Amino acid sequence: MLTQDYINLEEKYGAHNYHPLPVVLERGEGVFLWDVEGKRYYDFLSAYSAVNQGHCHPKIVNAMADQAKTLTLTSRAFFNNCLGIYEKYITEYFGYEKVLPMNSGAEADETALKLCRRWAYDKKGIKENEAKIIVCEGNFHGRTITVISMSNDPDSYKGFGPYTPGFIKIPYNDLTALAKALEDPNVAGFLVEPIQGEAGVFVPDEDYLSKSYMMCKSKNVLFIADEVQTGLARTGKMLACDHENVRPDILILGKALSGGTMPISAVLADDEIMLVIKPGEHGSTFGGNPLACKVAVAALEVLKEENLSENAERLGKIFRSELSKIKSDMIELVRGKGLLNAIVIKPKNGKEAWDVCLKMRDNGLLAKPTHGHIIRFAPPLVITEKQILEAVKIIEESIKEISESA
Ligand code: PLP
Repeated sequence: MLTQDYINLEEKYGAHNYHPLPVVLERGEGVFLWDVEGKRYYDFLSAYSAVNQGHCHPKIVNAMADQAKTLTLTSRAFFNNCLGIYEKYITEYFGYEKVLPMNSGAEADETALKLCRRWAYDKKGIKENEAKIIVCEGNFHGRTITVISMSNDPDSYKGFGPYTPGFIKIPYNDLTALAKALEDPNVAGFLVEPIQGEAGVFVPDEDYLSKSYMMCKSKNVLFIADEVQTGLARTGKMLACDHENVRPDILILGKALSGGTMPISAVLADDEIMLVIKPGEHGSTFGGNPLACKVAVAALEVLKEENLSENAERLGKIFRSELSKIKSDMIELVRGKGLLNAIVIKPKNGKEAWDVCLKMRDNGLLAKPTHGHIIRFAPPLVITEKQILEAVKIIEESIKEISESA
């Protein structure tokens, strides 16, 4: 079967809820992917930052294979001999008293919202059913009904109502709006992405997180960080909140917690918050399964053993600096932090970000537009300086070719 045959199969038998770039991948290793015809590509998406440790990292895959042959799932009806060890490891790793394991990022966000609401009623003394949570315009927290109820992107929410109430939407990176919203005594939490990834890698002002954290503290409001995309070394620190020395009251992790091998997410908090949820009130059949526990420990170890935060920090600076040198009227802006970056494309004679991505594919680099005109660049963090420079050449050449053909 060739590329088009696989695409035809998905088109005919799969739901049309995605619009993939036309390339059919069959193998990955480190920063590279190979298609079914054997062509090699740089992966500059990393499965939306789930593959920070690189494709098929041997340590993670070995941990997975060993545990897969031993015990994969018991459900939480019983104890297993991996969960407690993982819980100790991840809580010490991030400095929290407790963890609640889930699978997808959206589920972890939902878990954080439930924790926040219950904390509001049990600890803060808000009247039942009246708790509100502040969220930011442009957010992306996943695809469940409650999560899309927080969205102001019509592609996410339109046609899926009625929506979950209890959210106050304010502009991102706007402390004045936050201060005003915090005046409502029924506010229990502020849910924020330290950098808005899906929105197009919007990096807020340097003191946005620390100031909003302090403002939340002064109102006894929980600061909840969704680090599903920004966390785990992606932005040049273990957590993006670390750039401002902010310790969220509730920390949400996902994606790279498995190095891209399976869905693993987690919510971390201290006892004061986590213990408001009692047995039977929340959970998931697969959350905390032995396979996930072993994989997550290996994935977290790799981040530290291979100094991936430092690599992301150093190479991110080089990458942005090299991108900024490209002379093209199609590049409006370069922005990002660590190895979470984006360029804003100015269309030229009908050629858009999508056309640039197709050209980069032809030239051996995979990335995907978001919101039509933004291209995110997020390679696996195991990338080397030589590879980053080679990738910049591909990007430059592709934009030049598209400009000239326009
Ligand atoms: N939160 C953030 C910040 C994300 O970027 C994403 C996915 O891109 C999610 C949550 C949802 O994660 P999942 O697709 O695993 O449900």
